[in-house]
Amino acid sequence: MDFQNTLQFAQQLDKEDTLNQYHHEFHFPVINGKKSIYLCGNSLGLQPKKTKSYVDDVMQDWASLAVEGHFYAEKPWWDYHERLAEPLASIVGAKVNEVSVMNTLTVNLHLLLVSFYTPTPKRYKIICEEKAFPSDQYMLQSQVKFHGFKTEDAIVEVKKREGEHFWRTEDIIEKINEVGDALALVLIGGVNYYNGQVFDMNKITKAGKAVGASVGWDLAHAAGNIEMQLHNWDVDFAAWCSYKYMNSGPGNASGIFINEKHLNNPNIPRFEGWWGTKKETRFLMKSEFEPMENADAWQLSNPPVLSVAPYLASLQLFAAVGMPEIVKKRNRIVAYLEYVLTEIDKEVTSSFEVITPKDRGTQLSVLLHGQGKPLFNYLMKNGVILDWREPNVIRVAPAPLYCSFEDVFNFGQILKKGIQELT
Ligand SMILES: *Cc1c(COP(=O)(O)O)cnc(C)c1O
Repeated sequence: MDFQNTLQFAQQLDKEDTLNQYHHEFHFPVINGKKSIYLCGNSLGLQPKKTKSYVDDVMQDWASLAVEGHFYAEKPWWDYHERLAEPLASIVGAKVNEVSVMNTLTVNLHLLLVSFYTPTPKRYKIICEEKAFPSDQYMLQSQVKFHGFKTEDAIVEVKKREGEHFWRTEDIIEKINEVGDALALVLIGGVNYYNGQVFDMNKITKAGKAVGASVGWDLAHAAGNIEMQLHNWDVDFAAWCSYKYMNSGPGNASGIFINEKHLNNPNIPRFEGWWGTKKETRFLMKSEFEPMENADAWQLSNPPVLSVAPYLASLQLFAAVGMPEIVKKRNRIVAYLEYVLTEIDKEVTSSFEVITPKDRGTQLSVLLHGQGKPLFNYLMKNGVILDWREPNVIRVAPAPLYCSFEDVFNFGQILKKGIQELT
């Protein structure tokens, strides 16, 4: 469709947008007395207005019931996390028994590697993308060292080509085939945090499995952003945080996926705790561990209900809208953002470029060729919240649930003014 870089046109797109009313469901930070333009849902999603009541309910149950809340709260705490499995499964394309909510993301990746990275002297290498999110790099390095291997030897990074800003699927698959028999694990971020690229998870998973490796995905930037079919793609395991596109609040609980075929494997190595044992016999306090038959077998502790409650609030919002609607709006608003950026670029002398490839979700990463940090500071001062990545990139993510086309238009105007004032 032909876009126009005008307020009137942006408002027309908002009128046609079936998700437009959902921005009323969220709290927005206020800057200079005005509702901010929030383009940072890839880092921390906004707070849904309903969330507070979910947390208040837990606080109230704790005040009035104390320990009895475990079993007699309206949503009893002992199995509170089970309420999240169904909506979560539909978001990541899993069966309900394949997902669980527990701990935080990096912790869960370590726990999942206990199960899915079991290197031998012959098969011990890990393939990941170059410059993966730092926590993932540290996690992989420490796992490799823990098993007695050298990081330089065991970790194989797939690089981007000279002069390109994205990874090519064929380069990843070639690397998988090259490492072949020595490959124990492929672990990549499903959507790259820096350039916003969506990896071809289906193809890469198949290639990894074909050489006998386990394949897992860090879905921190994918969950709630793109549609996935983890079960059908035959992914072995995955984990994600809930505070980015999933709007569950700072540092909140993480989700995991474990392919059904691994669930009742008695030989799978796993670190275990009492919440992974069968609920029916858990309180007999036996010394023998009898695993739950679903992904909850990986649970260690009783659920952190105050952290899981906001995630439930958010998932109920996602369930009401559904990923297909979210993706539909996402495609349109990101296309409009790209158009607005292209138009602005023609009007200013100091240029910039979008480095996000066409396989993308909600985020466009913009490489600034002129002013960097000062321009970012200008945007933040003038009511636009987005984020900065060294050396000269701003990440712009109009989350479909709460960003409007008018936000995108206004962002473009502020960006233009900022570039003009600073050059
Ligand atoms: C955000 C993010 C993390 C954060 O990890 P936490 O354990 O939640 O602090 C890890 N990996 C990736 C790829 C991320 O984008």
